[in-house]
Amino acid sequence: MSHENLSPETIAISLGRPERSAGAGLNVPITMNSTYVANGAINYGRTGNQTWEPLEEAISALEEASSTLIFSSGMAAITAAFSILPHGAPIVASHEGYSGTMSLLKRYHSEGRLEVRFVDITDTKEVIAQLQGAAFLWVESPTNPGLGVAEVGVIIGEAKKRNLGVGFDNTFATPLNQKPLTFGADIVMHSVTKYLAGHSDVLLGSLSMKDPALHARLQNARMSFGSIAGPFESWLALRGIRTFPLRFERAQENAAILATRLAAHLSVSNVRYPGFGAIVSFQIEGDAKKAEAVCDAATLITNATSLGGVETTWERRRRWELESHSVPENLIRLSVGCEHVEDLWRDIQSALAGS
Ligand SMILES: *Cc1c(COP(=O)(O)O)cnc(C)c1O
Repeated sequence: MSHENLSPETIAISLGRPERSAGAGLNVPITMNSTYVANGAINYGRTGNQTWEPLEEAISALEEASSTLIFSSGMAAITAAFSILPHGAPIVASHEGYSGTMSLLKRYHSEGRLEVRFVDITDTKEVIAQLQGAAFLWVESPTNPGLGVAEVGVIIGEAKKRNLGVGFDNTFATPLNQKPLTFGADIVMHSVTKYLAGHSDVLLGSLSMKDPALHARLQNARMSFGSIAGPFESWLALRGIRTFPLRFERAQENAAILATRLAAHLSVSNVRYPGFGAIVSFQIEGDAKKAEAVCDAATLITNATSLGGVETTWERRRRWELESHSVPENLIRLSVGCEHVEDLWRDIQSALAGS
């Protein structure tokens, strides 16, 4: 059966399985090999691995891509995507976004490796004005941690009209909310570490695309950099994907409820929630120290960085040196997980009251 008519819930469960034959396992094995008998499809562990492929197949189907390449982390995937741009290429990117991406782009810009035109990605007019003469548009929407939302269809369409390449970090929204390739993006990137794998136990990244020539260039980048995924990590991520839609739907439901209640809470202001996804950012009454105390005071929610696991975590984002200084000192980013929403709300209320 072709997966084209299948829903994401079904794709997540049924793709990336071994051939069905009597006695075959339902799950792919973890293939531990650095080298292979000559003249086959795979020769060496840096060029391929049989445990990568089922994971790549599942992510491709979820994103409506023709192919996917997995990498050792989300940042490894992003680095590979930028690596195929010519030296000094003008690119347009949001001035607010994942701190690792921001730091990489700032470094490339100061080294002259890329000429980055930083924009407010939610300001469509500004984005379009900067596209003129640029080679590439990098979009992250919603943004991390401000949760700004770009007019995704419009800016990708305008970029393609001007022949720019478009890369899209779809980590926050996930393919359950938007599929950038269907809007014309060339590359969609995931920190698989987050919702796709979903259990805070593995780092992985992916790039998905439709164009085979682009695939070949990015595959060559992965091979040359050696930024390859471990077989065990790949297996864990595929296992995680089986329940990704279930987990994400619950987390998203919880997040919507918590965002509404936080907005009505007297010690909280500027609640940011784009109406989808499972991340909520807000400011608390008080300074950085108070925000740290709130994060520490919770007993169920863990004060920890990262996001997208089944367990709810939160942190004060500005505790990171790399975080943009436009992010307020007292902003807490809450990654909502799959616990019962009433247990989470009680924990949040008592942390806000008791710290
Ligand atoms: C975490 C994250 C990344 C980086 O991924 P790693 O797997 O940590 O390397 C990139 N983009 C976004 C939006 C993220 O949340």
